[in-house]
Amino acid sequence: MPPMVLLGPPGAGKGTQGQMLAEELGIPQIATGDILRAAVKAGSELGQKAKSYMDAGDLVPDEIMVGIIRDRLQQPDAGEGYILDGFPRTVAQAEALDDMLAAIGQKLDHVVHIDVDNELLVKRLSGRVICRDCGATYHTRFNPPAKDRVCDLCGGELFQREDDQEKTVRSRLAVFQERTQPLVEYYRQQGIYRKVDGDQDPETVRARILQAIEGK
Ligand code: AMP
Repeated sequence: MPPMVLLGPPGAGKGTQGQMLAEELGIPQIATGDILRAAVKAGSELGQKAKSYMDAGDLVPDEIMVGIIRDRLQQPDAGEGYILDGFPRTVAQAEALDDMLAAIGQKLDHVVHIDVDNELLVKRLSGRVICRDCGATYHTRFNPPAKDRVCDLCGGELFQREDDQEKTVRSRLAVFQERTQPLVEYYRQQGIYRKVDGDQDPETVRARILQAIEGK
């Protein structure tokens, strides 16, 4: 199973879908946002460098991101395919990824773009809360936990990501439009681009993604 990329604006459901697909296909999900948040939490050098960009809703510089992916793809579990969630986010990152794969005789199999209306994204993200302990996600309106600010699954505390406040969400969407949207054309030219309507519930979107990658 060659590698695939989930492309989409913040809040499109890349994390949720990536997790479900990874389980279904038996391959790892590699989410650069998760890797960065873990580094920030650990207070590592990487975390210290990345934090100000993340809090502002800006992209972390390409050299840093490409270095992270280069290391991660060398881990043993990445040998049999993987799902990239949140990478690449710029054309420079996409080119670096193509070069890395070409060097080991591989290429991307699918790029699935989860497309969602901007106003729905703002609503989704500004109500999103996440469990500090197990990472489960909820929405204060669309998918609330049984008890306010407590995780249904593990009892952990729910928090709002710094960058999920409405003002930052709007600038993350603008960054997506400007820096990441050009990847649509980049991958369309390679003939591996598939667009899926992500406005629906997670199960429906999941079925559409599977259909898009199976019916290639
Ligand atoms: P995410 O969880 O994918 O929304 O990522 C959270 C934040 O991490 C983003 O807003 C960026 O600041 C940073 N980030 C994650 N992946 C990348 C990437 N591929 N390139 C640049 N910055 C990234």
